[in-house]
Amino acid sequence: MAAKILDGKQVSAGIRAACKQRVADLAARGVVPGLAVVLVGADPASAVYVRNKMRACADVGIRSFRFDFTDDVAADRVIDTIEELNRRPDVHGILVQLPLPPQLAVTRVLRTISADKDVDGFHLYNVGGLVLGDTVFPPCTPYGVMKLLEHEGISVEGKNVVVVGASNIVGKPMALMLMQRDATVCICHAKTRDLAQFTILAEILVVAAGIPNLILPQMVRTGAVVIDVGINRLPDGRLVGDVDFAGVREKASYLTPVPGGVGPMTVTMLLVNTISSAERSAPAHAVVAPARGAAAIAAAGIG
Ligand code: NAD
Repeated sequence: MAAKILDGKQVSAGIRAACKQRVADLAARGVVPGLAVVLVGADPASAVYVRNKMRACADVGIRSFRFDFTDDVAADRVIDTIEELNRRPDVHGILVQLPLPPQLAVTRVLRTISADKDVDGFHLYNVGGLVLGDTVFPPCTPYGVMKLLEHEGISVEGKNVVVVGASNIVGKPMALMLMQRDATVCICHAKTRDLAQFTILAEILVVAAGIPNLILPQMVRTGAVVIDVGINRLPDGRLVGDVDFAGVREKASYLTPVPGGVGPMTVTMLLVNTISSAERSAPAHAVVAPARGAAAIAAAGIG
């Protein structure tokens, strides 16, 4: 059996087309969605991610604003910038590209972002919402995984799902979203002993560890759905996930490729969260040009 490849680019294209329509509807209400992106330092991977996100914004009509800082920037300068962005009415989403250099306490920076503009979903308030099942901004990567599964008609209800990786940005919110949909979830991490004894039970296996070839075919149950979130650059320059793609493809029923699987979905869900934020702040009705002269008098019922 060869797994069906879950094409994140194709699914993204459909969602992005819907995004364009939502942006057009917002324009009729006098609003252009805006995303501010804060980049600290010169990490080449982060620069690529930021560029991709801004390009995707432009593609659907979201305005983006970029704020670059050198990696020795004082924490207060970054905090001041975020506070200013919190106040700007043309900014509906604020994204701080991670990782941050050590002098910037990531929790302080993320907590400074207004919960109403926290389109990455990393603020304490939004994490709390996720825990209670009352999510405002679902974190983009797990949100993208859920959308991919949904698009393919793969239900998670009652399924045995194993999440490999327990980070705050992928593994933990992924597990919470799956629980919210009534999956039976097991979370594995670097200290898990004998990873294979857990992964082999998974009907759906989500892997986000950042280790090439961590998941080999003998660790995967026949017919499992395998979602590879990992993105790893090999010494020869190739980009691979955490799953032995060629081997696992012969055993799984569905498999995401790297690149072209979860990655494009992550960027797409950032667009969705930014548009949702703009919709929440927009006036309910279409903005009509103010009537002038005789028309204004007639509209006011005078004369
Ligand atoms: P992280 O380093 O913060 O967390 C990695 C997690 O994996 C940790 O919980 C760790 O305990 C666990 N882990 C490490 N080694 C393990 C092992 N041998 N067995 C089991 N668990 C192990 O990383 P992250 O930010 O969560 O990202 C994980 C991977 O996903 C990276 O490759 C990253 O580039 C990728 N990523 C992809 C997207 C996307 O859009 N596709 C988005 C975010 C992250």
